[in-house]
Amino acid sequence: MTRQAPLIAELVNLATAHWRGGASVQPLAGEDLAATFAAQLRDPTSAALRAAPDTGRHLTELAAELRQALLAEHPADQAARINAMIRRYGAQPYLVEDVGQPFHLHFHGSGGTPVEALGGEFATALALIVDGYGPDRFGQCAAHQCEAVYIDLTRNASRRYCSAACTARAKTAAYRSRRQP
Ligand SMILES: [Zn+2]
Repeated sequence: MTRQAPLIAELVNLATAHWRGGASVQPLAGEDLAATFAAQLRDPTSAALRAAPDTGRHLTELAAELRQALLAEHPADQAARINAMIRRYGAQPYLVEDVGQPFHLHFHGSGGTPVEALGGEFATALALIVDGYGPDRFGQCAAHQCEAVYIDLTRNASRRYCSAACTARAKTAAYRSRRQP
């Protein structure tokens, strides 16, 4: 399930980031959000998202819920938010055999829309990450002027930045501040 982690962070950051990498970035919404996010998924999920009505609006709502769960201050609040999403999206485990892949477990929501299916998948992924890694694996980028979220699956829980670009930016800033007299 951890393979969903980059996608979850990507959806949240596409839809809600105002500052990213030190630059002001307009959040995507509507068809822009639907097309940009769908382009990062494989078919049939990608095609289903593009074909469904109102995908952009539903993705915006899902991204807001995911962001609140990721950045919840207390583990109990975080667990309650994730549990609520699992219930709302009707997530349920079942084995799927994709083309060229052995049977593997999916947790698609049982709702009618592709976004609801994705919501069940993502909510379960967050629950499994909390279960397997603990409650402290979600955060907001520590780089200056960046509000992007990340999901930390490193062995020693060392991640602080949303991207390689922000890691480099923060290192440069720290180096410059050390060199100040
Ligand atoms: Zn960042």
